[in-house]
Amino acid sequence: HGRGQLSILVRPYGDGQHLLITQDVTARERADATRRDFVANVSHEIRTPLTVLAGFVETMATLPLSEVERQRVLSLMGQQTRRMQALVGDLLTLTRLEGSPRPPSDAWLPLQRLGDAVDTDARSLSNGRHQLSFHWEDEANGEADGAKGLQLAGNEVELQSGVGNLVNNAVRYTPDGGTVSVRCCRRPDGALEIRVSDTGPGIAPEHLPRLTERFYRVDGSRSRDTGGTGLGLSIVKHVAQRHGGELRIASELGRGSTFTLLLPASRVRPLVSQPQAATA
Ligand code: ADP
Repeated sequence: HGRGQLSILVRPYGDGQHLLITQDVTARERADATRRDFVANVSHEIRTPLTVLAGFVETMATLPLSEVERQRVLSLMGQQTRRMQALVGDLLTLTRLEGSPRPPSDAWLPLQRLGDAVDTDARSLSNGRHQLSFHWEDEANGEADGAKGLQLAGNEVELQSGVGNLVNNAVRYTPDGGTVSVRCCRRPDGALEIRVSDTGPGIAPEHLPRLTERFYRVDGSRSRDTGGTGLGLSIVKHVAQRHGGELRIASELGRGSTFTLLLPASRVRPLVSQPQAATA
């Protein structure tokens, strides 16, 4: 088909005849290339903070530093160490997610509990620099007491990491004074949308299809400076897929972005409900 790779083997077949074996190895070659790229990316991501750390160790070992300078160097060393910790943490998460197709447990989890955890993390990350608004109740629920809430079937750690990564990105990429909002809405078909919107820089359309690739970044320095590993959206995509759902991204340059985690109706039910098995 034009761009593929073919392996051709010629084997003697007796009586001076030969057997020609051709095999399409395009998929295998692509998988090998992806793996090589991944290892190269990981090595690069680890080498950079390590080089910086090595420089600081050298500085501390060889230069007479004042107490103020010593504290400054230690703080920068701490920053690089945390960067490597975040990277290793995300790599382990991603490896675990890619290693097994289904989440390990499908317990029912109150949406509010997921919301509280994400809410706390976002407030601490934003540190008062953004307007944050969280609506974890079912918006589509017409009752006045909409906050009664829903529960979700899935793995709590994974769902928390999925939604948490979206909110974390929204806070990290939105300049001070901007707005980050999270809204939940049950669609008429019963599926749940968790929408994370921000008034950040937005993302040009040509980047959108690649955002969930491992280590794909639109703005590398902004990502790294704010503690990004380049793996967050890959993790979210895996979490969504493992829960039978999907991640949708809409964005407009200069206006902001909306990331929507869509979870199937079979994994959503009101808090007060008859026990039923989760399927999806
Ligand atoms: P990172 O750790 O770099 O944030 P992600 O996988 O979470 O990695 O995101 C991939 C890239 O998508 C980011 O580097 C950034 O360029 C872009 N991105 C993600 N979320 C947002 C957002 N809310 N606003 C603008 N750009 C974003």
